[in-house]
Amino acid sequence: MRNRPGKSLLRILSALGLGLLLVQCAENPVTGRQQFVMMSEPDELRVGREGDAEVRKEYQTYPAPDLQKYVDQIGQRLARNSHRAGLAYRFTVLDSPEVNAFALPGGYVYITRGIMAYLNSEAELAAVLGHELGHITARHGVQQYTAAQAANIGVAIGSIFLPELASGAGQSIVNLLGNALLSGYGREHELEADRLGAEYLSRAGYDSQAMIRVIGVLKNQELFDAEVARQEGREPRAYHGLFASHPDNDTRLQQVVAEAGRLGGRGGTDSPAALLAQLDGLVFGDSPSQGLIRNNTFLHPELGFAARFPQNWRIRNLADRLVASAPDESAGVELRVQEAKGAPADTLRRVFRLGGGVPIQNQSVGGLPAATSTLSMQGRPVRVAAIHLENKAFLMLGSAASPATFQQRLADINGIIQGFHPITAAERAQARPYTLRLTKAQPNATYASLARESPLGRHAEGYLRLLNAAYPRGEPAAGQSLKIVR
Ligand SMILES: [Zn+2]
Repeated sequence: MRNRPGKSLLRILSALGLGLLLVQCAENPVTGRQQFVMMSEPDELRVGREGDAEVRKEYQTYPAPDLQKYVDQIGQRLARNSHRAGLAYRFTVLDSPEVNAFALPGGYVYITRGIMAYLNSEAELAAVLGHELGHITARHGVQQYTAAQAANIGVAIGSIFLPELASGAGQSIVNLLGNALLSGYGREHELEADRLGAEYLSRAGYDSQAMIRVIGVLKNQELFDAEVARQEGREPRAYHGLFASHPDNDTRLQQVVAEAGRLGGRGGTDSPAALLAQLDGLVFGDSPSQGLIRNNTFLHPELGFAARFPQNWRIRNLADRLVASAPDESAGVELRVQEAKGAPADTLRRVFRLGGGVPIQNQSVGGLPAATSTLSMQGRPVRVAAIHLENKAFLMLGSAASPATFQQRLADINGIIQGFHPITAAERAQARPYTLRLTKAQPNATYASLARESPLGRHAEGYLRLLNAAYPRGEPAAGQSLKIVR
């Protein structure tokens, strides 16, 4: 979670777009054909610019200038070989553990450090960027954007303090954007982005087959996540641009990539070593600026607090809030932060619009001034708390699927509220991020043996396999470069 109120990017984009519903005829940069689009290029640039400002409010850029420069150089090399070489492009690595990449209209491409960890060559990185460039040059975002506006997408998104129960909701903005773009783009546009990306790879001197390999990386990610999700009893995540068949069996994909690859002439480079050198030391998983989960305690050194959760609860660290849910998703607690004004009881009254008749208990939580209350929201009982720490107000809301479940889970919910405390020196020391390290495989090393030395817990072997393109099977060869997590 970040020290900022969250907003829905789509809602903002929708609001921005109200003045843009002018139907114009423009030439599609890729096909050269005239098409009806609902946005001129200056409007497209404006939407991109304003959307970029929103993305930067939600996400921090990853603080590694050398890595940013490296990604930008590869992106610019592809852009110069694209159908819209005249646009000003910006390529940004976001400090997010999510596995994703996305583009805004007008030339803005974002890639998370989360996806970068799983790439194994410079050509694979170029393939991710090339695919996103394809969405921009073919103006898929513009078409999606106008469609989303027409459907008034975003209205349902970003409601404040609705408990995230049973629906499997609670997604960050990248997921919301990714899902919306994904569903709107559909198979044909995704295939077109793959084809265009492969063409730009090839023209820029990269091996265009990296497009197929990188889709395989994401597909394996999806297969692994489906397995973990099944064990955890949750919905699997959606990845941008992925469809049912594995790229190895997808003849249409193989065909368009092969055709695009011929445009670049002779075979291109893959450059695994160049990328791996850049990934040594990359933060893996949560970072201290977003808060980390260790032993089911959420640690946020920058905001100066820690919050304990029952061992079997699942904690999701989202951009603007923390959501914890009971094992069967029958109850949940949401935690947000805002500026403190007045006493905790004032905060509680203001945020939850409590009438004068609702009783509020002033109390101490973790040695901090706090106020709690129980009230009814949309016909369901909820337990709310405001805890003040320095100039911040931490707001907690605990709710359950039914009044009966609420009573069963009330002790857990109260325990979570009482588990909030200023971060201790020992917890601060634990709040170190994991990082990727490059190593050479020892003779007889296996992913199972590497997993035993890994801090990644019960799914460590799966993560290590995915990181090293050995999912679901295969073992390291003696002396090969390996990415491990420390
Ligand atoms: Zn796509």
